[in-house]
Amino acid sequence: MGKIIQLDDLLSNKIAAGEVVERPASVVKELVENALDANSTIIEIEVEEAGLAKIRITDNGDGIEESDVLMAFQRHATSKIKNDQDLFRIRTLGFRGEALPSIASVSRIEIKTSTGEEGTRLVLEGGHVEIFEKASSRKGTDIIVTDLFFNTPARLKYMKTVHTELGNITDIVNRLALSHPEVSFRLIHNDRKLLHTNGNGDVRQVLAAIYGLNIVKKMIPIEATSLDFTIRGWLALPEITRASRNYITTMVNGRFIKNYPLVKSIQEGYHTLLPIGRFPIALLNVEMDPILVDVNVHPSKMEVRFSKEAELNHLVTETIKNAFHQKELIPEGLKRE
Ligand code: ADP
Ligand code: MG
Repeated sequence: MGKIIQLDDLLSNKIAAGEVVERPASVVKELVENALDANSTIIEIEVEEAGLAKIRITDNGDGIEESDVLMAFQRHATSKIKNDQDLFRIRTLGFRGEALPSIASVSRIEIKTSTGEEGTRLVLEGGHVEIFEKASSRKGTDIIVTDLFFNTPARLKYMKTVHTELGNITDIVNRLALSHPEVSFRLIHNDRKLLHTNGNGDVRQVLAAIYGLNIVKKMIPIEATSLDFTIRGWLALPEITRASRNYITTMVNGRFIKNYPLVKSIQEGYHTLLPIGRFPIALLNVEMDPILVDVNVHPSKMEVRFSKEAELNHLVTETIKNAFHQKELIPEGLKRE
């Protein structure tokens, strides 16, 4: 008799949750990404005790059909890709079919969803279905996650202070809002409004909501195209600096990503204009054929690999250098502010 057994679904979901659901902010990220993939134009995020007590995401998107609701909580179940050709041409934020089963396995989750017809309500605890019934019919999806990590005590213990976890949530929501100015976001913590964007499509409105109008007035737009890439962004003038790289937001095809070489190429564009140890406020979106970028690097989908990295980084650095160079060429008196 061999010793190897196939783990059951609940246990494998819990293992996946270790990577997908690192902290409350990861739950917020996954659920908001789902709302964005479902074409929502208004997304409300309500958290209590930095998400450890409660995370609620309400959207006005497509909703899930009754016959799909239980399926959505199965491992590797997704409506976003069908075959490996799709995997290499990802346009949606999700594609791994892991978030809902992973989150459900380590929390209590309630979902009310409707495609416009009669809706469905499903409640799961630790991945077990407790309630599955018909419900109200407002189009969209409303998900409430409570008691996060109730059955993974080691992970719960590892959580930092409310202040730190809330900082992570705010950071994620800010970046999601910056990458989707056409969507209205509202973030509320313990009844206090932390962010509100109006969804009018103007990224400056989002920048202003996050950093303040005075900063936005000192940001300039950039845009450039090479053979494979189009980059667009907003850069704070070098006189405005910050003590960390956290104020640099990089995106690929509307997905915010963490990519050190890209961030470095932005810094290099500023070059000597920044004091040592100081960093700019910057927003950069790269538009490209999805075949040239691999987003399937880590379950959190924040890391990517570019196949033409050198071309991209060169384009970014040169465009930023030029932008500031040109600005300096204009005599003071003629500057339009
Ligand atoms: P993925 O996003 O990778 O497909 P998830 O586990 O996050 O996997 O979600 C599973 C499926 O549930 C999605 O493919 C989508 O069809 C559906 N879904 C999840 N959240 C929403 C939502 N807010 N609105 C509409 N459909 C949703
Ligand atoms: Mg998803």
